[in-house]
Order: sequence, then C-alpha cells, then structure tokens
Amino acid sequence: MTQNPGSASQRIVIAGGGVAGLTLAVALKQTLGESFRVIVADPTLAGRPRADDRAYAVAAAARNMLEALGIWRLAEAAATPMTEMIITDSRTPDLVRPVFLSFDGEALPGQPFAHMVENGALVAALLQVARANGVELRAEGVRSAAEDDGAIAVVFSGGEKLDAALLVAADGARSKLREQAGIGWVGWSYPQSGIVATIGHERPHEGRAVEHFLPSGPFAILPLADGGKLGHRSSIVWTERSENIAALLALDESDLLLEVERRFGLELGEISMESRPGAYPLSFGVARRFVGERLALLGDAAHVIHPIAGQGLNLGLKDVAALAEAIVDAARLGLDVGGSEVLEAYEKGRRFDTVAMGIVTDGLNRLFSNDSTPLRLARDLGLGLVERMPGLKRVFIREAAGLAGPTPRLLKGEML
Ligand SMILES: Cc1cc2nc3c(=O)[nH]c(=O)nc-3n(C[C@H](O)[C@H](O)[C@H](O)COP(=O)(O)OP(=O)(O)OC[C@H]3O[C@@H](n4cnc5c(N)ncnc54)[C@H](O)[C@@H]3O)c2cc1C
Repeated sequence: MTQNPGSASQRIVIAGGGVAGLTLAVALKQTLGESFRVIVADPTLAGRPRADDRAYAVAAAARNMLEALGIWRLAEAAATPMTEMIITDSRTPDLVRPVFLSFDGEALPGQPFAHMVENGALVAALLQVARANGVELRAEGVRSAAEDDGAIAVVFSGGEKLDAALLVAADGARSKLREQAGIGWVGWSYPQSGIVATIGHERPHEGRAVEHFLPSGPFAILPLADGGKLGHRSSIVWTERSENIAALLALDESDLLLEVERRFGLELGEISMESRPGAYPLSFGVARRFVGERLALLGDAAHVIHPIAGQGLNLGLKDVAALAEAIVDAARLGLDVGGSEVLEAYEKGRRFDTVAMGIVTDGLNRLFSNDSTPLRLARDLGLGLVERMPGLKRVFIREAAGLAGPTPRLLKGEML
C-alpha cells in the first residue's frame, strides 16, 4: 500500500453513519491503517446516537464480522441469543395459535443462528470502535458528488469540497446520492407498515422468537435482554395495513395494550408497554446498479426488503463484508480503490443474493398476509411438511444465519 493519506487516492468518504456505513468504516480503517483516511459524514452524528426502538435480529454471519472487528464485545451485553423460532398461522381473534413450524436456533453446534440487538447499543458500540480506530466522523451530510479527473469531488453540506478515490453512499432507503448519480430504483410500496415497540412481560422468553402470521401481516415477538417494569422484555414488529396505523397509534396506552395482547397471547403472562410504538411504512426496492463512477451503494441505499424475515440489515452487513474485501484486496496490490475492478467485483458479489432475498421475502409476505382459506390450507400443509423434514430445516437455518453460499472472509470471522 502506498503511504500518502494526504492524496485523494488514499481517501474514502462514506455518506451515512447508520449501522452499515459505520461498520464499513471500521473494517476499512482497521485494515488499511494510517495509509488511508476514512471519513464518515452524517448530520445525525452531531447528537447522541438516535435512541429509536428498533432492534435487529443480527444473523450469525454478521455477528462473526462484528466480533472480528471488536464491535461485538461492546454490544454483547445488550444482545440476546435466539434459541428457538416458532411460526404460527391463525386469524387475529383466534384464542389458540397452533404451532406449524419450529426451528432449533443453532446454525452450528453452540452457535445461535441470530442474536437480537437494540439499535442504540449497536450504534454506540460502533461509534466507540470507529473513534478508537481513527475513523474521521463529520457531523454533516454529503450534499453532492461528481467524478472529476480520476477522483470523486465530494461536497459536504457545510460547503467544503474534498476529493476522494471512492464515495460510498450508505445514506438509507431514500438515498439522495443514488438519485443524483442517476441510478434507477425498481420497487413498490406494500399496503402495510411495521409497528415497532418494546414490550415488558412477566415470564422469561427463554430466547424464543415467535412469528404469528395474521391476515394483516406477520406479528413477530423477538427476545430482548431482561429489564423493564415486569423483569423481561421482547421487541415486537407488528405488521398492519397502513390505513389502520394512525388510529392504532392514537389509542391511549391501555387500549393499545389490549390490541397488542390480542396478538401477543398470554404465554408470557402479564404484559406492559415499555415504549411508545413507532411505525415504518414498508416497501421493496433494489437499485438498478449498485455502483456508479467512483460510487458504491451500501445497505438500504442499494436495497430495501420486507422485514418478514428480519434480513434487511443483514443484507447491508453482507454488502459491507463484500465491499471491504474488494477495496482491501485492491489496496494491497497498490490498485485504485475506487476503480472499476473493485466496483465490478462488489456488484457481482452482491446482486444475486440481494435480489434472491428480496423475492423470497416478497413472496412470503404475499403468501401469508391474507385471509384466503384455500391459501391458508396450502401454506399450512407446506409448513407441516417442512416441520417433518429436519434436513430442509437445517438448510433454512443456515440461510437465515447468512452462512449459505460463497461467504466473504469477514462473515466467516476472519480478518481481511
Ligand atoms: C419494522 C422494521 C423492522 C426491521 N427489522 C430488522 C431485523 O430484525 N433485522 C435486520 O437485519 N433488519 C431489519 N430491518 C431493516 C433495517 O432496519 C435496515 O435495513 C437498516 O437499518 C439499514 O441500515 P443502513 O445503515 O443501510 O441505513 P440507515 O439506518 O437508514 O442509515 C442511513 C444514514 O444515512 C444518513 N444520511 C441520509 N442522507 C445523508 C446524506 N446526504 N449524507 C450523509 N448521511 C446521510 C441518515 O442520517 C442515516 O443515519 C427492519 C426494518 C423495519 C422497517
């Protein structure tokens, strides 16, 4: 690697300090060291990490990477292993929700296929490691960027201009940088929104994740670390038809709790609201290209999927592993880190997996989010068959753990 971090060819700018952008910054800075400047720009870096109530099911492969980068040990105290996953299919008023499919939660012996981690704890851990590694954090957005004579000229919202070898757009689903680069977007909105909240309960969840498929969409109960008013906590991702959202969110706490209880069930005893719920409109979309001139799209800026399988961020973290590997391999050979070889390797490594996961999650949502009796019979027959096939269940678990197919080094827990 050349040793001149003052030149544009040794600078990488990442627009967006969400989980995807920050993880890439840490992976690059840890590996490239003093020879490169890695800059993350995001206006939200001015305040404390945004404490929303989102919690992610971080798959085993993504956790391997966070562990290798020294992030996991700081987030681990706030993480809960998923030891089991249960799927039911019923109507909202049904008092009994029969189990159609259950998965033992291990991807490999002793290794749960996923952990639940709260967004606030993960971002705080990422910021701590980023600072300790010398990632430059700028509390402002990237306003625009244009290829300019072998570099990309990045203009920050304060007006300053900086030339870099590569700009990574990790600026979320409504990426302005993707739009400015003229990269198209194929996708659609679902007539559904996801309500996210933290629920307290009397009895321990024992690491069990439950997904009730209801006619308006899946209602997921995901295990969180103990705490709260009743001693134990879970996160819910409650998919509802968007036209019902405003009325649900306007309910007072006791009426809202009743609505949650109708879906949550009584298995975990008394329940309480531990947070005000937030709602996210749901959509599917994939960028027509993941790269442009000295530009790579990362995470939700490249793809957005239905949260039915809890895989959105995991796809973004797979992008991180693939892009970091392509950049570091080029830097080691003294090649241009924003050049077409790097960008093509990244796009080639990520497009198929992304589109496949998008299609699977879209299909699952269409199959389950309805009240058609013939479809219900067919899907319950299908779930029942899978339940009796341990080999097929193991395939699904490895897929959900992110360990199926060709895997970049970081996702195997190896350093770059
Ligand atoms: C209800 C729900 C439940 C989900 N559950 C799961 C789950 O269990 N598991 C899972 O893997 N995924 C889940 N997801 C998906 C997950 O939330 C997203 O995939 C993930 O948060 C995307 O991360 P990101 O870093 O790509 O983007 P974001 O988190 O959107 O971050 C983008 C950042 O870019 C910044 N920004 C915007 N514009 C600019 C600019 N011009 N310059 C600089 N910065 C800019 C923003 O301030 C923001 O901080 C869920 C999603 C929903 C809606």
